Amino acid sequence: MAGRSRGPRTVKLPSAAEADALLRRMRGEVENNSNYRTKSLKIHGPVCARCGRQFDAASINQLTVHHRDGNHHNNPPDGSNWENLCNHCHDDEHSRGLLGDYLESAEKPHTR
Ligand SMILES: [Zn+2]
Ligand SMILES: [Zn+2]
Repeated sequence: MAGRSRGPRTVKLPSAAEADALLRRMRGEVENNSNYRTKSLKIHGPVCARCGRQFDAASINQLTVHHRDGNHHNNPPDGSNWENLCNHCHDDEHSRGLLGDYLESAEKPHTR
């Protein structure tokens, strides 16, 4: 008579819950990344903060959301780290001094 069974050995498989969590995390990051643009446009409007150029549905892809502190992961929901800049002003912003160098290396791994 076996007093106590050893029971089945628990094999660690990637459970559905784990896969789901991973998926949710990935999805969350993707959402965050594309969402800040939408949010910034909503908060600051489809206008370049520098030159005041206005954008419509056809030209909105020329408007870039710039991170004031250069940290793309700093996306406060109140939009305080975002600035909507047209391609021209955004380029300009990134080509000046220390900030430009920092952002250039943060956004693009290669230098032009
Ligand atoms: Zn501009
Ligand atoms: Zn930028």
